[in-house]
Amino acid sequence: MTPSNPVAEEAPTDGQESSPDVAEAERTTNPESALATARRQLERAAAHTDVDPGVVERLKHPTKLQQVSVPLRRDDGSLDVFTGYRAQHDDVRGPYKGGLRYHPEVDGTECIGLSMWMTWKCAVMDLPFGGGKGGIAVDPKGLSEEETERLTRRFAEELRDVVGPKKDVPAPDMGTGPQEMAWFMDAYSMQQGETTPGVVTGKPPVVGGSYGREEAPGRSVAIITREAIDYYDWDVEETTVAVQGFGSVGANAARLLDEWGATIVAVSDVDGAIYDPDGLETNDVQDHDERPGMVSGYDAPETLSNAELLELDVDVLIPAAVGEVITAENVDDVRADMVVEGANGPTTFAADAILEERGVPVIPDILANAGGVTVSYFEWLQDINRRQWSLERVHEELEREMLDAWEAVRTEVDDQDLTWRDAALVVALSRIGGAKETRGLWP
Ligand code: NAD
Repeated sequence: MTPSNPVAEEAPTDGQESSPDVAEAERTTNPESALATARRQLERAAAHTDVDPGVVERLKHPTKLQQVSVPLRRDDGSLDVFTGYRAQHDDVRGPYKGGLRYHPEVDGTECIGLSMWMTWKCAVMDLPFGGGKGGIAVDPKGLSEEETERLTRRFAEELRDVVGPKKDVPAPDMGTGPQEMAWFMDAYSMQQGETTPGVVTGKPPVVGGSYGREEAPGRSVAIITREAIDYYDWDVEETTVAVQGFGSVGANAARLLDEWGATIVAVSDVDGAIYDPDGLETNDVQDHDERPGMVSGYDAPETLSNAELLELDVDVLIPAAVGEVITAENVDDVRADMVVEGANGPTTFAADAILEERGVPVIPDILANAGGVTVSYFEWLQDINRRQWSLERVHEELEREMLDAWEAVRTEVDDQDLTWRDAALVVALSRIGGAKETRGLWP
């Protein structure tokens, strides 16, 4: 029934060689890709650790890249075939973990780079997971709900051999959400013959999802921003903040910081930004989920473009929309005193170096938005134990995990005089390197 997939069948299973697709994906990489950036960040941080160079070399490559064809019967009876991917970077500390995105530009190279970031993110948080990332090259806006369900179920079947609660645990990402995770879990469970909620996280609570998962990345961005404000001896009551992207991450971060006393002067959606130097009432602005497009339609004193928001003279800039928005081209116009990365990869490698030269701290994504994967870990624990936690418990445990991670990274910043990104990577690499060196290389 399942069409044979020569790529997956030929993929090596010893975990250390590249399959033909990995080699191809690695060859086609461009210098600004997530993969190239992840590798350069790895090399830079490795210089501050005593991790064996052989281990660093292994970490430049994924264990595996799965490429699958996902046929879809359209509502009108016609058939389309989409390409799906799952990159599995490293699992030395536990199952691969990372999102599945539905986006026209998903490709193997991007999935490998993003899966590397997931390995570091899980290690910074000291979670027993490695890094994975995948998705389908499809525009989800062009699919009906029924088509999305059929596509997701077939994708789950194509990935069935490589995912599982102890192997690889996907989660929502761009273009996917709790409903896709519920379909994925159901398809997997039907084929396994047993309900297996722990195969994915980010599910609705009624089928084993965790309370607090949706707001967790934004909550962690707010917690880490609060700690950073405190570290630099600023007063949160006098701190101005601009947030690009008022979606799940941006709106939750902005509203919490607002609640804690910060002045949120600007927020944006894809169509533009609203600005009030006296501070916006963030609870009155509808976020992307509540009503897409409402940010730029809000009656604020001033409207700005997204580019202008990035150039505001604020204390904290939180890019929480998409990747690669602070680049070598616009970084000289960025006037914020600190950047906290809410989105994944919003600062390019070149822009990062310029901000470092200027002494502008950049608190990296792998720490700041790691609340998402941390509550995913809580969800996985709840699924395995078949016992749901209260929202209060999720918030308490998340706060504790974020503070532990912050403390580990801050120690490296202070002890080794590192940037926040290098320090976070040093924490991650030391944990991963320690596990790899102790386990050794098989055979
Ligand atoms: P979302 O879809 O809920 O919201 C995205 C917001 O950004 C919306 O307001 C949208 O209008 C705006 N936007 C989209 N494209 C834009 C552009 N080019 N310029 C300016 N604004 C734009 O998405 P989200 O879940 O909040 O994710 C945002 C970022 O955070 C992504 O990079 C995502 O990978 C990352 N992230 C998300 C999670 C999660 O669990 N939601 C976890 C970690 C990291």
